[in-house]
Amino acid sequence: TVVLGIESSCDETGAGLVRDGRLLGQALASSMDEHARFGGVVPEIAARAHLEAFTPVVREALDRAGLRPADVGAVAVTTGPGLSGALQVGLAGAKTLAHSLGVPLYGVHHLAGHVAADTLEHGPLPDPCVVLIVSGGHTSLLLVRDLARDPVVHLGDTLDDAAGECFDKAARLFGLPYPGGPAIDRAAREGDPGAVTFPRPLTGPRDDPYAFSFSGLKTAAARWAERYRARGERPPLADGAASLQEAVADVLTRKAVAACREHGVGTLVVVGGVAANSRVRALAEERCRAAGIALQVPPLRLCTDNGAMIAAVGDLLVRAGAAPAPLDLSVDPSAPLEYAALHPVGRA
Ligand code: ATP
Ligand code: MG
Ligand code: FE
Repeated sequence: TVVLGIESSCDETGAGLVRDGRLLGQALASSMDEHARFGGVVPEIAARAHLEAFTPVVREALDRAGLRPADVGAVAVTTGPGLSGALQVGLAGAKTLAHSLGVPLYGVHHLAGHVAADTLEHGPLPDPCVVLIVSGGHTSLLLVRDLARDPVVHLGDTLDDAAGECFDKAARLFGLPYPGGPAIDRAAREGDPGAVTFPRPLTGPRDDPYAFSFSGLKTAAARWAERYRARGERPPLADGAASLQEAVADVLTRKAVAACREHGVGTLVVVGGVAANSRVRALAEERCRAAGIALQVPPLRLCTDNGAMIAAVGDLLVRAGAAPAPLDLSVDPSAPLEYAALHPVGRA
């Protein structure tokens, strides 16, 4: 079965086609540039952009895969979490396609998509594996068994900001361009990661070993920059960016490796937009090698939002024999990640 996946939870309109775990083609449109001058995603602009991009993006994904609409055997769509209006555009489009093609529809959790993205590069996820999801809105350590059938176990989550949010907010304070994560990564290349000692939140002996907190780090970055500005000096941004990136990468990888060790799990999978960060990737590599843990990180284009990852979840659900969604499937902007499918799949 060829599964068409649709993603529209934030500012990326994505379509991807997957069959039996293999990516056949994908296309992506982004309204990122339209949000840049506001310093963050504007929901109404995002929803309108999805509406304009939906048909061209689906058509382009099909073209790249060398497929026609009639070849599609199932449609999977992100129904949450995300921006309500943005999700609704994708869902309406997906429903229309599924209904007109006479194929089943699956509602997919966006974060399960980020997890499944890795399967398109490395094949089926080892059961069990520890997954570190680090994205714009989420930071969680998960114990994942069979993504299509089993609930994911949250070992720990962020208590406040997500790692990506920390980068995005710090970049804004530093006067770096939007989106902040890639800008921090670029600026950090010229900087000294040891120049500023930023805190490593929740890494003390009495702290929850798998919980995260990044809002204090953002505040520390703001104070650091302010000390220079108060003296009428320009803060050395490359050093600030490199040091902040080091602190975030240190905390993320330390906790992820500890989770693998304590649970006797041999594979760490790092996914989500912040998995594109060069220091997070390098430090995860270094620490996993030292601990004898296999590391899997998807290629950059599969880390940030895309339609292929949603198709990958749909493909897993189809192959697991999951029941399709009812036609009154609706969006759930704040859905917590438990099951990959965001509708009852008739598990017995
Ligand atoms: P969520 O998946 O939690 O709903 P989202 O979909 O907006 O949020 P993603 O697309 O997974 O998030 O990732 C976007 C985030 O990744 C942004 O915060 C962005 O700054 C960050 N990011 C992207 N590339 C990098 C990078 N190279 N270094 C650090 N952060 C990055
Ligand atoms: Mg985005
Ligand atoms: Fe995302």
